[in-house]
Parts: sequence; structure tokens; C-alpha cells
Amino acid sequence: MGLGYLTIGVGHFLLGMRDVLNDFTTIVVANPIICLGAILIYKGLFDFLDIAPKLGYHLNLLLIPVFAGLLYYYKFQDPDINVRIILFSLFYSMTCFVPAFGIWKRYRNNSSVQIHILFYMFFIMGIFYLFRTVWTSFEAQHLNFMDAGAIHSITVIVSELLVIMTSFITIWMASDKLQAKLSIMARIDSLTQLYNRRTFEESSDAEFSRARRMKSTFSIIICDLDLFKNINDQYGHPMGDEVLKIFADTLRDNVRKHDIVARFGGEEFVILLPETDSKRSIVVAENIRNKAYSSSVRSQDGSSILFSASFGVSHYERDDNDWMTVLKRADRALYSAKQNGRNRVVVLEKGEESSSEAVLPTSTTKHSSKLIVN
Ligand code: GH3
Ligand code: MG
Ligand code: MG
Repeated sequence: MGLGYLTIGVGHFLLGMRDVLNDFTTIVVANPIICLGAILIYKGLFDFLDIAPKLGYHLNLLLIPVFAGLLYYYKFQDPDINVRIILFSLFYSMTCFVPAFGIWKRYRNNSSVQIHILFYMFFIMGIFYLFRTVWTSFEAQHLNFMDAGAIHSITVIVSELLVIMTSFITIWMASDKLQAKLSIMARIDSLTQLYNRRTFEESSDAEFSRARRMKSTFSIIICDLDLFKNINDQYGHPMGDEVLKIFADTLRDNVRKHDIVARFGGEEFVILLPETDSKRSIVVAENIRNKAYSSSVRSQDGSSILFSASFGVSHYERDDNDWMTVLKRADRALYSAKQNGRNRVVVLEKGEESSSEAVLPTSTTKHSSKLIVN
């Protein structure tokens, strides 16, 4: 787009040097350069808006030498200012309709103000130049373009509008895009693409208020990879990252759409399950534990890295004051899972302790699990 602005600027500069430079430069060269500038601007816009340039764009580019040739003919072989104005207006209206059509095709269901402004700007400009084409064909023969009248003077302003509006709208859209990206970055953990701790805390606040109001419940599962430090030490930090990613995928793939899965920090993850008591959460946790335990990551030397995780589960009960109380209970359950040999699920209810243990005491041998609910 920047190149387009520069090109259009050069074109207008040459056009303005009518009395200084020769006619070939100020007419035959300047006008196609202005059109080329406009094409480069909308091509830049297409790139920015992710619109694939189609036939119209290629035709538009290919017609530039034809346009220059015709300008040459109607200046030096059969001089006719009106025909030259018609040629320019026709070509420029095409240069406006191509992006209008491209934007309409790609974004017809988009309600963003910026897209609407861009579409209407190009469309109205296209209509304006078409109108100028018709108008000029009914006008008396002009002797000097510089005294051609109001509509032709307005043309200069209209083409300036293209520069001003496209740059303004692009900056507006770019800042919106950046803002959206930043807000995602603030909510998502970059390694695992799960929610981060902050988002989890916000969601938990909302879910706690909802559960209290609706007199329903929710569960929190907290899980931590077992002896993860050993994986880092043995295979290196990048492989440790791979394990974190695979485990995060396992979590994401085995919960419902409205469950909140987050990386709480390091190799610790949390899941908030709305409308779910501990009993059902144990099943979810047990399923994830099993899947994690039976998956592996291939190390650089070709061997399989096996891993496991421990899980603590608890659910909200009516006299819990906040969700942190539930999380703390789940964390105590996790601690108990670690203490009892890892690779297991432990549930801790308010006021009483019960556990659901998957009998999988080691993380190197794989065998079937058995669920014991005390
Ligand atoms: P436990 O079973 O008791 O949880 O043992 P552990 O080794 O998993 O726990 P510990 O707290 O001793 O070690 C956690 C390790 O996790 C240490 C830290 O370097 C590693 N870790 C934390 N964040 C990342 C990360 O983003 N990438 C990698 N590769 N390692 C991480
Ligand atoms: Mg750990
Ligand atoms: Mg940990």
C-alpha cells in the first residue's frame, strides 16, 4: 500500500508539472502511473484483508500499457481531450470496482464498520468515475484540461480520498487486529494454547457466582505431571515442552466444550467442570489419566518418552465461601495422590476424605487400571 501511495504521489506530481515537463510525461506517463498507484493500494489492501486477487486485478494490470497506448494515440495522433478523460475515467472506475467487488465477495456477511466503509468508498468512487465518463461524452470538446470544469476538478479530490480513506481504515483495522491479538495473548498460554491462570481465575469467579445463584455445583480437577523434572533432565527442556503440549491436547480432547482447561503454571493444569459433581469428575480425570499414561512422545534418539500425571478432584458445596476453597481441596487431593505413589486420581470432599485410586503405581510399566472409590 505504501508503494501505491508513493506511485500515486509521483503520478500526481508529474500531472502537476504540465507547464514544466513535456506532454508525453505529464499525460501519457502520469495518468497510467496514477492508476497503477491505485491498483497497488488495493492490492496491498487485498493482502491485508486476505483477499486472493482474481481476474479483475490481473486484467486491471494488463490494461495499463493499453491505456497508455490509447492516451498516446489521442494526444499525438488524433488529439482529443474528451476521449482521454473518458479513457481515464473508465479505467479508474474499473480500478475502483475491482476492489469493491473483491471486498463484497469475501466479506459480504461481515458486519464490521471498516469493511462497509471500504466497500462503499470504492463502489461510490467507481460510480463517480462512470458518471464522469458519461458526462464527458456529452460535453463540448475541451480545449484545455486545466479549464475543463467542476466535475474534473472534483476528480482530484476524489482520488485523494482514496489515499486518505484507505490509510485511515487500514490503521483502524490494524489496531483492532492488534488489540484482538493482545487480548488473546493475555488469555492464552503460548506453549499449550490452553487458557492461562488469569483466565481460569476469571472463569472460576463467574462459575462460582453462577453455581451459588442457581444452587448448582461445579468441580475442579487439578493435575500435575509426575516426576517431570526427570524428563527435562533426561531428554532436555524442548522434549519436556513436547510432553506438556501432548498432555495439554489430551486434556482439551477429553473434556466438554464448556469445561475450562487451563495451564495453572509449570507442569500443573486445572479443569473447571460446570454442573458436575466430584463423582462425574473422577470419571473424567480417570479417563485423562489413562489416556496420558498410554500416550508417549518420541525423543530425538527415537525412544518413546512415557509420562503420567496425578489428579486431585473436588466439587463446590453450598457453604464453600469461594472457588479458591474448592481449588485448595483439590490441591490437597493432588498432594495426597503424589504421596500415595503418583499416577492416580484422588478426590477430597468437604469435611471428609475419600479417594478414587487408579492402581498404577509406576510411570514406566503400563498395565490396566482399577478404580477404587472409598
Ligand atoms: P512431582 O511428581 O512431585 O510433581 O515431580 P516433578 O519433577 O514433576 O516436580 P518438580 O516441581 O520437582 O519439577 C517440575 C519441573 O517442571 C521443574 C521445571 O523445570 C519444569 N517445568 C516447569 N515449566 C516448564 C516448561 O514450560 N517447560 C519445561 N520443559 N519444563 C518446565
Ligand atoms: Mg510434577
Ligand atoms: Mg508441579
